[in-house]
Amino acid sequence: MRRAGRGTALESQVMPSSTSSPTDSSTSSPQGPAGEPPLLDPAVAGALKKDDAGLVAAVVQQYDTLEVLMLGWMDEEALRRTLTSGRVTFYSRSRSEYWRKGDTSGHRQWVKGVSLDCDGDALLVTVDQEGAACHTGTRTCFDGRALPAVTASRTDAEGL
Ligand SMILES: [Zn+2]
Repeated sequence: MRRAGRGTALESQVMPSSTSSPTDSSTSSPQGPAGEPPLLDPAVAGALKKDDAGLVAAVVQQYDTLEVLMLGWMDEEALRRTLTSGRVTFYSRSRSEYWRKGDTSGHRQWVKGVSLDCDGDALLVTVDQEGAACHTGTRTCFDGRALPAVTASRTDAEGL
């Protein structure tokens, strides 16, 4: 928001006049100004351990097959929207905007459950995923992207 009163004459700083008309006096309420966005439940917000950008990681999992579909990021508002709308909304770090999964791709995610992890820095969102979860077109973001890894079994314990 621009601060008034720093001497710039480039634009006039006009204080917004009250928009309430005298007939509004009977509708006063303890709520904040109209148009104020609703907030995330303070108990939930207080349990979140956000990073420096105000975000927590959200792991998205298909609710029935348990496929790990993707990882996204949520701030408090993205989580609020996800908790209250039935659709998953992320916050895009690269575009600095909210992003409701499927609005452009059609690959919507229907919320089945949301859990906060033990220390509050990650969410698990179980969904019913329509189509591909990954923007590259694969079902999950991890399909076909295995790294070479030494694998082991618990019966190998003596050798390791
Ligand atoms: Zn992906």
